[in-house]
Amino acid sequence: ESAYQRIQEVDDSINAFLTLDESNAMSKASELDEKVAENGDQPLFGIPAGIKDNIMTAGLKTTCASQLLDDFDPIHNATVMERLNEQNIITVGKLNMDEFAMGSSNENSGYHVTKNPWNTDYVPGGSSGGSAAAVAAGQVPFTLGSDTGGSIRQPASFCGVVGLKPTYGRVSRYGLVAFASSLDQIGPITRTVEDNAYVLQQIAGHDDRDSTSVDVSVPNYLSAMEGNINGLRIAVPKEFLEEGVDAGVKEQIQTAIKTLEGLGAEVNEVSLPNSQYAVAAYYILASSEASANLARFDGIRYGVRKDGDDLIDVYKNTRSEGFGEEVKRRIMLGTFALSTGYYDAYYKKAQKVRTLIREDFNQVLHSYDVILGPTAPTTAFKIGDNINDPLTMYTNDILTIPVNLAGNPALSVPCGFSNGLPVGMQLIGKPFEERILYRVAHAYE
Ligand code: GLN
Repeated sequence: ESAYQRIQEVDDSINAFLTLDESNAMSKASELDEKVAENGDQPLFGIPAGIKDNIMTAGLKTTCASQLLDDFDPIHNATVMERLNEQNIITVGKLNMDEFAMGSSNENSGYHVTKNPWNTDYVPGGSSGGSAAAVAAGQVPFTLGSDTGGSIRQPASFCGVVGLKPTYGRVSRYGLVAFASSLDQIGPITRTVEDNAYVLQQIAGHDDRDSTSVDVSVPNYLSAMEGNINGLRIAVPKEFLEEGVDAGVKEQIQTAIKTLEGLGAEVNEVSLPNSQYAVAAYYILASSEASANLARFDGIRYGVRKDGDDLIDVYKNTRSEGFGEEVKRRIMLGTFALSTGYYDAYYKKAQKVRTLIREDFNQVLHSYDVILGPTAPTTAFKIGDNINDPLTMYTNDILTIPVNLAGNPALSVPCGFSNGLPVGMQLIGKPFEERILYRVAHAYE
């Protein structure tokens, strides 16, 4: 009741939700009222949650914020939803995003623009902007987002909340509508680091239905919150505090570094020399994979169908009218990059750059426990400021994209304000070592 009351109060101005599921949620809540006694060991029991609209929820509309999927009701749940439902969470609704998770501001949604709760003239970030804004505005204690190039961390940073991109392979993507399959990961957005660990604990782990999900045991994330970071080795890549990073953001990160040193951590400057090529490589790889993944939206199998004289016409009309500008831009870029004659020059080259980026991370993390820097080079920008300039929009992910290319886990945790808007600090760890990110962030928080 209090979640819906809060949504009622603030969502007219924030616009975080695309779909609410009030009657089902309320009946689930009354059902759970009867079961409290038997479920004392379930930490998420009865907790209301919001889910990004690219994660399948059986019987609850899942649109990916695309007009093309305006009427799409999934017949099954994503694995993460099955796991959370077993824990008796309550899904209150589905959250706005950039269409098919392509974007950094929520301005690419096919429905409406979500506003930043700290200042509604500003974007909440993206693509999981609805997921971050709903937590920041106190509508729900936790949400799920997805992160292909920064889509959990950057909005978490812009909205002043905690967002984790788990290691590639840590959380099943079965039932996540694929954008770029070699990069996509689902993760939690929460108000505190501890809450984040509670959610990851439930969604992490191997799943036969996602062949990229890795079969390594799930550690206890809660016990990482021990408070002590004495002697921990932290690396700060010089490239992460160079040109393009706002002075106000830099200042907050430098203050955070001092705090961590005060807690006993040892902080040194390092270099990730190939990260400067990450955005270029990402837009080749992510667009190529997107062009293949989005081929399934043909007007026949899913969603809205636009009529035409013959089958090709139906495809054409459905895709022309159903997809927004940015999605079409990516499909064209990706199709071009994969075409005969260009494959070696673009796709293959980008894959090689990706390997170099991964090796940079491996090398630094061989001698350090975590890498630290800002999550984004700026705080939230004004709605309308970047939307007509895709290149500026793309470079906002310059600090998050390298991590997706490498596959490592990364956490964004709030670290102060600049000009009244939240700044996020990014912590990057070794594959499958989310625990150490929680440990540092919790000690800092
Ligand atoms: N902003 C990046 C993009 O537009 C990342 C998106 C994401 O992580 N889903 O591709």
